[in-house]
Amino acid sequence: MPVAVRPLLNSKDKLVSQLIPEEVVQEVLLRTDIVDVLGDYVQLKRTGANAKGLCPFHQEKTPSFTVSPAKGLFYCFGCHASGNVFRFLMQHEHMTFPEAVRFLAARYGVRIPEASAQQRQQESLSPLYALHQAAATFFHECLLRDPVAQPARLVCRQRHITHEMAGRFGLGYAPAAWDALCQAMYKQGFSQELLVQSGLAVVREAQRGAYDRFRHRLMFPIHDRLGRPIAFGGRALESSEAMHVPKYLNSPETPIFHKGRLLYGLALARAALRQREQALIVEGYTDVIACHRQGVTHAVGTLGTALTEHHVGLLKGIVKEVVLVFDGDAAGGAATERSIGLFLDVGMRVRVVTLPEGEDPDSFLRRHTGEEFLRYVDEAVSFVDYLLTRAARFADLRHPAGRADCVDRLSPLLRKIENQVERWGYVALVAERLGVPPEVLQRQMYPHQAPRAHTPSQAPAHDARRTREAPVRSRRPPSPTPVSPEYTLLQMLCHHVHLLEQVQHQVNPEDFHDADLRAIYTVLAGRALAGGPTIFPRMLEEAANPRQTQLLTQMAMGATLTNPTEVSAALHDCITKIRQRQPKAQRQRIIEQLRTVGDGTAEQQQLLQEYNRLSKEQPMSFS
Ligand SMILES: [Zn+2]
Repeated sequence: MPVAVRPLLNSKDKLVSQLIPEEVVQEVLLRTDIVDVLGDYVQLKRTGANAKGLCPFHQEKTPSFTVSPAKGLFYCFGCHASGNVFRFLMQHEHMTFPEAVRFLAARYGVRIPEASAQQRQQESLSPLYALHQAAATFFHECLLRDPVAQPARLVCRQRHITHEMAGRFGLGYAPAAWDALCQAMYKQGFSQELLVQSGLAVVREAQRGAYDRFRHRLMFPIHDRLGRPIAFGGRALESSEAMHVPKYLNSPETPIFHKGRLLYGLALARAALRQREQALIVEGYTDVIACHRQGVTHAVGTLGTALTEHHVGLLKGIVKEVVLVFDGDAAGGAATERSIGLFLDVGMRVRVVTLPEGEDPDSFLRRHTGEEFLRYVDEAVSFVDYLLTRAARFADLRHPAGRADCVDRLSPLLRKIENQVERWGYVALVAERLGVPPEVLQRQMYPHQAPRAHTPSQAPAHDARRTREAPVRSRRPPSPTPVSPEYTLLQMLCHHVHLLEQVQHQVNPEDFHDADLRAIYTVLAGRALAGGPTIFPRMLEEAANPRQTQLLTQMAMGATLTNPTEVSAALHDCITKIRQRQPKAQRQRIIEQLRTVGDGTAEQQQLLQEYNRLSKEQPMSFS
């Protein structure tokens, strides 16, 4: 039965990919280091020619996500997710094809025709991206050049926000006029409806039209993890009380902006995060900017929201440890305990540092160097230490009841620690600090366990976790049948393209029973004819559906014969098997055709003759 063909490139992709020349796409693919790009999402370890890591598309504990730099492909042996670097960005980052090409072109310095605002609107999944980009540019230009932006530049100077930092974070100025932004955006072809949808404009109640939400404010664009502006925060410039306006004003939630799902500065911090395998989590815009100004570039901001599993997801796979940096006077709260648990859940380490009384990172770094700040960070205590200290402030730990409360609160977090050596180390620490024998603490942590089983290796935490972590997001596309002779033939051809000419004399596309394999054979023949040097991963772009992509990747990543004699023998074997099926398949086709032709026609006569001829060649077997 033919597989339903769902083209991977939708009509929008087709349309806009015409705007990026094919040579540019080739060039981008050639220069891109797939291990480097995917390394932003997955901790990859080199194993021989490939790199391996935990699959970002399904939940797993042992790495089955494989990346081949030589072939430019990724493949997961667990869930069969597969493709080239474009496809990864399209699947994982929900980019369109042209967006993925532009993103990589910028990263690897490939010159690409600049897109107009209109073109970006067409290329994007949402025109809101293009609008935010245009608005960010407008605000930034105002900050740099507009004489009326003087108060905004003054605030920058007072806050030690240098020219360079204003550029790196794309800071801007929203003019005091009622519709400066709206007018500028209308000129670039953006509609009022879109401006209102983005939250940048507000509909006038009395009359028709809309006005700017942000007026006379220092603007902080908020970028997603790819560095695209998707929202804004605006800081009032005059004393907000005198003006009866809030000091900070943020974009409302939109289809592309969800407040609890992003970390401020993540795109800029990415390289440093990977290098240090650690993230510093601070709070506000100016905290992040101050850190980066002083060379502490692995700092990201929560923008005042509590840490959520979305935040954890953004950092998981990039860093092993997070350090929560608290202001001197607001050392976390109940929400902190919950967020610590979220990080422990995914096997990350958590430490906590509290700045001196009355200091936040911004104020601290105005008077101290980055090194001094990092010295504080180095002294960050483990989350256990932090929670014990906090508990001591709220409960009397000298009292048995206070200690019992403390154990009750710490136990669930300690049970989450995967590494046994680490877990029992903390148990010992808690026991010592509370003056409780470790065995008692252990019994308290695992109350349903038989006394005999108190050895760490039998801690029930693991089993509990495993059942809870049953496939949350598992997606298992139908597994292909890789053992068929047509699959084996194609796999060999993919690795030894020069054999194609020989095969083409003996095998026609119609000889392939599997519609997807037939399509791959046709594409392969076309590629070879055009003299395309790179079979993988360029061929993936011509895959018409996810199964074809998967088959191709599997062929590329699978082991293949290299010895010429063996290759030749295997090839001969495949061709023989395929040719043996030919008469059978042809007869089947004739039977189908016979149903549609009229009785006694010349056509029917011809088909019957053909059928008899084939039957003599090879009798039909009923096996
Ligand atoms: Zn997977």
